[in-house]
Amino acid sequence: MNTSNPALESASIDQAGLEVNPLLSDKPATQQANSCPIGAPPNPQSAQPRTQPDPLFEADADLGRRMEVANTLLEGIEWETETYGVAQCPGHHLHSTAGTDHARIYIDGTATLYCFHQSCREMVDEFNWELRRQIRRVERGQPMDRVRAMTTDSLARRVKHTQMKPFRPEWREWFLNVIAKPVHPACLCNQSPTPLPERVGDDRFAFLRLFHPDDVIWTGEVYQSSSRNFARVGTLIGGKKLRGPSVSTASFTSNATRRCCENVQLRRFLVVESDTLAIPQQAALLMALREEWPLAAVVYTGGKSLHGWFRWRDEWSQLEGLMEAKARIHSYECDRAAFTPSQPFRLPGVLRPGTDRFQSLIYLNLAHSYSNH
Ligand SMILES: [Zn+2]
Repeated sequence: MNTSNPALESASIDQAGLEVNPLLSDKPATQQANSCPIGAPPNPQSAQPRTQPDPLFEADADLGRRMEVANTLLEGIEWETETYGVAQCPGHHLHSTAGTDHARIYIDGTATLYCFHQSCREMVDEFNWELRRQIRRVERGQPMDRVRAMTTDSLARRVKHTQMKPFRPEWREWFLNVIAKPVHPACLCNQSPTPLPERVGDDRFAFLRLFHPDDVIWTGEVYQSSSRNFARVGTLIGGKKLRGPSVSTASFTSNATRRCCENVQLRRFLVVESDTLAIPQQAALLMALREEWPLAAVVYTGGKSLHGWFRWRDEWSQLEGLMEAKARIHSYECDRAAFTPSQPFRLPGVLRPGTDRFQSLIYLNLAHSYSNH
C-alpha cells in the first residue's frame, strides 16, 4: 500500500498548485470558499496540496505529539508507521456504497485524513480542520488535555453549522421584512381556525385539547415539581381541576415526579416567543411562520409577549433539523430556551400572577391537536 502523504506528493509534483497554506488559516481553503447552498457543497476532500514546505510547521513538527492529538480526536487508529495510520472513517455511517469503512490518516506535513467515499466528505473535512487546528495549538504549547475527542455528533454539528452559514443572512432578511409589517393581534383572533371560548376561564380546557388525552403533562408554578403537578390531560379536562399558571410543552413519563428533561416522554410543541419584539411584530412573525410550521395556538401572556405554540415537527427531533430550527429562531430574535424539553410556558385562562390581567388564548387550531392523529 502506498503510505506516503498525498498532500506532500502533490506538492512535489506541482509546486505552483495552491496559494493558500491551510495550516496558516483556521479553516481549510476549500471551506473558506464555501458559498454553496445545502446539498451542493464544494469538494472539500480533494487532497490539499502545499505549495512549499511550511518552515514553521516542519521545524516544530513533533510526530509523537501529533500522534497523541490524532489518537485523542479519533479512537482506534492503528499506526503502520510513525506518520501513517488507518482508522474507521468518522463519517462511516454515511457511506452509501459497500466497501471498507477505513480511512487513512497522515500526520507528517499537512496532517490529513483521507476516505475513499464521497458521502462522508463534509464530516472528514470538519475532522481535518480540527486535526490541523489542534496540532497547531499543541505545537504552540497548548496542553494536551485541552484536546477533546470528536464524536459523530460533534462532527455532524460542525457540518450543519458550516452548511447553514450562507442561509443566515437570508433568514435575517426574511425576518426584517416580516416585522416591517406589524399585525394587530386581533387579526390572530379573527383568523383562529377553531372558535375561541367566550369565557377566558375556559381557555384552559380548550387549550389542553391540543394534547392527547393520555399525555401526562406538568402544570403549576414554575418552581413547583412534585407528583401533584403531573396528571393526564384527560383527567385534567374531566376534573376541571388545574394547577397554574404554567404548563409544559411536552408529555412526561407516567411516574414522573420532577419536571426535568430526563422525564420528558414526547416533545409536543415548540413555543416561539420574543422578549425584544413589540407585540404587533410578534403577531406578524407568528402569522408568517404559520405558512411553514403548524401553528396550534397563540397565548397572550398578559405582559409583553405572545407565545406561538407550534406542533412539534419530526425533523426537529433530528440533530440537523433541530440545529436549523434553533438557528432560525435565533435569527428571528426569539428565545432558544424554548427548545429545552421540560421548559414550562404560561397557561391561558388564568390570571397572570401579580397582575389583574389574564393570560389568554387568542388563536387555536385543533386541527394540529394530538387527539386527531
Ligand atoms: Zn468515509
